Amino acid sequence: MTDFNMKRTWGPTPNYPGVIAHHENFRPTLMVLAGPCSVENEGQAKIIVKELARNQVMYARGGVYRAGTYPGKVFGFQPILAKVWADLCHKAGLRVVMECLDIRELDEMAKIADAIQIGARHMQDYALLKEASQLDCRVFLKRHPGSTLDEFLGAAEYLCKGNCAPALIERGSSTHMNHVRWDLSISIIPAIKNLTKIPILIDASHGTGRRDLVEPMIMAGVAAGADGFLVEVHPNPELSLSDADQAYPLDGLKQLIQKANSVKQAVRYA
Ligand code: PEP
Ligand code: MN
Repeated sequence: MTDFNMKRTWGPTPNYPGVIAHHENFRPTLMVLAGPCSVENEGQAKIIVKELARNQVMYARGGVYRAGTYPGKVFGFQPILAKVWADLCHKAGLRVVMECLDIRELDEMAKIADAIQIGARHMQDYALLKEASQLDCRVFLKRHPGSTLDEFLGAAEYLCKGNCAPALIERGSSTHMNHVRWDLSISIIPAIKNLTKIPILIDASHGTGRRDLVEPMIMAGVAAGADGFLVEVHPNPELSLSDADQAYPLDGLKQLIQKANSVKQAVRYA
């Protein structure tokens, strides 16, 4: 903790002692969350799961509980598909992360999934954060596209008050720039690492909205100290039913993970 972080004369006084006290051991390899934006059908899921398992991805992430910016495209809560996806992943030895959109679905989801994701738009859903904090599992918290570091860590403080193992994900801010979907804050990675030992990951898929920018931004995030990354992959990216523009080719995943781990080794942040 530096004086700048806690003794500033402007803005609300930061108050996240649990975040600062949190300790998690350094990991030699990156935490990778990978999978399709949406689980589309069993055939697609099988192809993807096989590749995730081959590359020792830590968490399979597949959209089975989906939200959408506009309600017409919402996929919604699909418990049958969620079970099919989770069973396939578990048989392949993969842990499963699922996004919880509704506090009423949290307990049912926690029976199927190994980790819960709280999406950007729910970052300050304090009731959901409190419930999720009570789970005995990993909870990934994504930064809202309009929130500051203090608001992000304030939300993380709710998780630190419970039993769960929190992890943070930077997924970009709303921006006037029109070459990207959202603008990733690379500087927030070392700023967060200076304050807490909670793992911080980079989501270069939603954070760019562009397949061609996914790899360089993952490398930039890892070079800045990220403990892992989230990437949406698809066997035929152009045919992805959702977020096709940012879908990364499944057959490039192996090289992506290897390269990112080499960057991590090269910068040697603890
Ligand atoms: C996601 O990770 O599937 C997602 C929709 O991201 P975000 O909550 O960051 O928009
Ligand atoms: Mn997506």
